[in-house]
Amino acid sequence: MRLLPVSTDGVQDLAIADAQFTTPPAAIGQAAAHPKSHFSNEAKDPDRIYTTANDKNLHELKETSVEMLDVIGIGIGPFNLSLAALIEPTPLRALFLEKRDALFWHPGLALPNSRLQVSPLKDCVTLVDPTSPYSFLNYLALHGRLYSFVNKRNASTSRREFIEYYRWVAGRLNTLRFSEDVKDVIPFRDGYRISTNTTTYMARAVVVGVGVEPKIPACARSLLCGTVYHAADYLERQLPCAAEHVLVVGGGQSGAEIIEDILTRSVSTQITWATSRSNLFAIDDNSFVNEAYTPAYSRRFHALPLQQRRDIVEGEMLTSDGISVDLCSRLYEMLYERSVDGTLADRFRVLSSVVVKDITSHNKRWRVDLDEIATQRNSCILVDRIVLATGFQPRTPPFLQALLEGACMEDGLPVLGPDYAVRFSRHMPGPIYLQNQSRVQHGLQSANLSLVAYRNSQIIDSLLGRPFYLNTSARQMIEVCAPSDTSEREAGVVARPSTRQVLGST
Ligand SMILES: Cc1cc2nc3c(=O)[nH]c(=O)nc-3n(C[C@H](O)[C@H](O)[C@H](O)COP(=O)(O)OP(=O)(O)OC[C@H]3O[C@@H](n4cnc5c(N)ncnc54)[C@H](O)[C@@H]3O)c2cc1C
Repeated sequence: MRLLPVSTDGVQDLAIADAQFTTPPAAIGQAAAHPKSHFSNEAKDPDRIYTTANDKNLHELKETSVEMLDVIGIGIGPFNLSLAALIEPTPLRALFLEKRDALFWHPGLALPNSRLQVSPLKDCVTLVDPTSPYSFLNYLALHGRLYSFVNKRNASTSRREFIEYYRWVAGRLNTLRFSEDVKDVIPFRDGYRISTNTTTYMARAVVVGVGVEPKIPACARSLLCGTVYHAADYLERQLPCAAEHVLVVGGGQSGAEIIEDILTRSVSTQITWATSRSNLFAIDDNSFVNEAYTPAYSRRFHALPLQQRRDIVEGEMLTSDGISVDLCSRLYEMLYERSVDGTLADRFRVLSSVVVKDITSHNKRWRVDLDEIATQRNSCILVDRIVLATGFQPRTPPFLQALLEGACMEDGLPVLGPDYAVRFSRHMPGPIYLQNQSRVQHGLQSANLSLVAYRNSQIIDSLLGRPFYLNTSARQMIEVCAPSDTSEREAGVVARPSTRQVLGST
């Protein structure tokens, strides 16, 4: 298999394309002002210095020459990792900062049986640049597993393998910095000053990719400990033992994976699985439904009125937020076999349509009060361990809260343009892009891997002020409504020629 060098082709293409855009050659690699670029000098006030109580080292900063980068990515999860891989062949000078000391992907849930819930072709790069050396296929090839992957007749992959793939990508990029906990992002002259636990950086634009954090029910927040914890910590705690009664709260994928893990480890552990849903619903990811996870769908969605977007997100929740069909079948089969050999007895039960109302400690155990949603009937159970598989929510660290003051808001979240840049009601010195925070604006795809490469190609186009990657989205199988040229044009997403050509394409 031929491996393509990352940078040279792209840079050459850009040199030609830049000439067409009348940007002086000297600007290449410096992200100089382009008419449509976010780095335009328009409305910039060079003398304006934004100060805060934290600005004690402002003076030193003016004296020392901190290099002004084009963009800094905060957080290195799959979303910003993809951005880093796709930015590499562009002339943008970028750096990505991560507070952990290495790349991790939800380590507390990296269970032995967990599978990636999307095609592995939804990796960091493939769907916008199938020739990129950072593709999952290239990873397989270089690890000698390309043929065996094809031969296993099942195109899915484990989450553990995908973590290895992400780590492999991370190991090949020289723009990533680990153990850098971002504390502050402050508008400063024509960009931002980004302070971490160790250093200060400057960049004209920021892409915040700090991911999600566990959603904990109010009644459990003050009780978190070694026997009451969120599913995100599951593998980092002592695993349930045979003599325990474990309550798993939450009927989604994480809850189901933990149930499978407990059932596999021991036949004796007593399990109660409580869900507010009326049943254990499987994810709906049939081929037609997956059309909702395409760039064209996302663009159309973004142009809809708010109420319609809310309704669609609500109505299509199970296309993203259910238990994988395979896992449902495995769990049911496992329970059936146990009922045959007599080990199931009363060791497993599902309580549907219930919510946890209260948790109190009771003789070294936990008393859990439950409300049945339909009947308002109360009941209580005694358990030894509570695992809260209650989902995740966008993480908003203090620096982000401060930065987003003055952002236009919709449904409690900042309004993002089609390029994922936050819309502000006040002047900002450069764009702030947000990953993973726009379910109601871009649709359910914004929180999963389906369009990760596409999203980042939009951010790159926005930073450069022109399209860089070839538009690979093509035609959809389902035409939901007549294409609205007007709304798409207003959203700034009409097809434009790309400057990065996929080699071999016509
Ligand atoms: C268990 C689980 C499994 C999933 N599986 C799938 C799947 O199979 N398919 C799919 O499409 N989607 C899946 N998702 C949804 C989505 O793809 C993931 O949530 C994905 O991790 C989102 O990537 P991210 O980069 O936004 O965030 P994260 O992976 O959460 O990464 C954010 C990073 O930012 C860092 N950070 C936070 N604050 C700072 C700071 N101040 N300074 C520096 N760094 C900081 C964090 O340490 C973290 O490493 C899954 C989600 C979960 C929770």
